[in-house]
Amino acid sequence: MHEHLLIDASNADTLLPQVQPSRYAQLGASFVCAIDPAALPDPYWVGHSQRLAQDMGLDESWKSSPQWLAYLSGNQGSRECQPSASVYSGHQFGVWAGQLGDGRACSMGELGGLEVQLKGAGPTPFSRRGDGRAVLRSSIREFLCSEAMHALGIPTTRALSVTGSDAPVWREERETAAVVARVAPSFVRFGHFEHFSHGQQIAELKTLADFVIDQFYPRCRESTAATPWASNPYAAMLAAVTQRTAEMVAHWQSVGFCHGVMNTDNMSILGLTLDYGPFQFLDAYNPTHICNHSDTQGRYAFYKQPNVAYWNLYCLGQALLPLIEEQEQAIGALETFKTHYPDALAQRMGAKLGFVHVQEPQRVLIESALQLMGKERVDFTIFWRRLSHWAANMDLQDESVEDLFVDRSAAREWLASFQLLHRQANSNSAVSVSQRMLSVNPKYVLRNHLGELAIRAAKTKDFSVLQQLQTVLEDPFSEHPAHAAWAGFAPDWAASIEISCSS
Ligand code: AMP
Ligand code: MG
Repeated sequence: MHEHLLIDASNADTLLPQVQPSRYAQLGASFVCAIDPAALPDPYWVGHSQRLAQDMGLDESWKSSPQWLAYLSGNQGSRECQPSASVYSGHQFGVWAGQLGDGRACSMGELGGLEVQLKGAGPTPFSRRGDGRAVLRSSIREFLCSEAMHALGIPTTRALSVTGSDAPVWREERETAAVVARVAPSFVRFGHFEHFSHGQQIAELKTLADFVIDQFYPRCRESTAATPWASNPYAAMLAAVTQRTAEMVAHWQSVGFCHGVMNTDNMSILGLTLDYGPFQFLDAYNPTHICNHSDTQGRYAFYKQPNVAYWNLYCLGQALLPLIEEQEQAIGALETFKTHYPDALAQRMGAKLGFVHVQEPQRVLIESALQLMGKERVDFTIFWRRLSHWAANMDLQDESVEDLFVDRSAAREWLASFQLLHRQANSNSAVSVSQRMLSVNPKYVLRNHLGELAIRAAKTKDFSVLQQLQTVLEDPFSEHPAHAAWAGFAPDWAASIEISCSS
């Protein structure tokens, strides 16, 4: 049984003085409701990010502190901060879903200016039929992937810790409970705006937009003549969110990251990767890959994700219309996606090929590489990494890249074009091209089967695999010879891992 304990704030004055009230929660009762997290029985540490703790200004002792363990499991509060859950709505799989809200996420206040949200700390008024809990398996995936994405340079919510408990949680089978402490400047979603707009709560919609602009997009209040929305801060915010979202998705595509549930309630207003559920890094390059077992229509197939992002931005634009007022301004802001996205993608893919400037010949080369890889389902990460090493000599006798292909002559032909284009660009020595490529083409990504290895060990209370994997993923562009196997091809059993919305 989960006891529903009130937070023990009796000695909270001396506890965690760093914790500040959440700025978002101060918007008031239309936006959040107070909750008492349900204690995670007898919690223990499963994982923690010392790097993030440092960024947040925590000293080393936090990991050995029972108070931090309790706080990050939802068992201990701080007197100043009432935990809260926020209300939002959204479009799920393309359909208006109405009110959703933080059904199992609980804001615990801010640390170092960053909001701390516990995922899995018990039911809230928005839990609907859910139990408010998260299982160990999905919590480990969210924790590892947040930190892995950050190390890849991809905007994301972060994760400070995972704590676990032997308390049972029922999904398809009996599992155990865990809590992820995730951290971001803000967890505001497109769905927050949709909620107030759909409910005709225009005053709240404006309060929310003003809050986001003042806190995170202050330049949207500056008037510049360069854009048609210069005098409209809400349209300027829409344009800024459009740009950040375009950059985020371009970054995802460049590392083969597939977000399994790109519903509008999972889209961050700050352009952060948010809500790690059935995500996947591609093993074989297959643009039509669907990583979410529950996505039967393939709405969120890998190649569709840029279009879905644009569709989601339209939902945001629609929600902001009562504030923007002039439809042309909203459309103008949204239309910028059509240039931002391809430009951002070309820049990222060009860098993967070692080019600083991307023009038509580079674009053609990128496209033909993807065609070749897609045709033969070549491993995405391994291709780019081998190519980065190959580029040091650009020697057509070196067969390491063409070994990845059945059609070797097509691969060799492509390598010859790559070599020729670099000779023509003549910008740098091959060695420096190679070094540049190695710094953007990771050796290690969180493949499904690697997460699975960490989860299997953690289920037996062995957290060493998780820790080692985390160390490698925190530094994904380096070699880590002791863990070279984790940079290899996915084993056959990886194909049988089914990741669904169940978490
Ligand atoms: P997700 O698919 O994880 O983005 O979740 C969609 C909605 O369902 C959000 O409102 C979540 O808070 C809610 N939700 C998901 N799982 C649970 C759960 N176990 N208990 C309560 N609410 C949940
Ligand atoms: Mg969600």
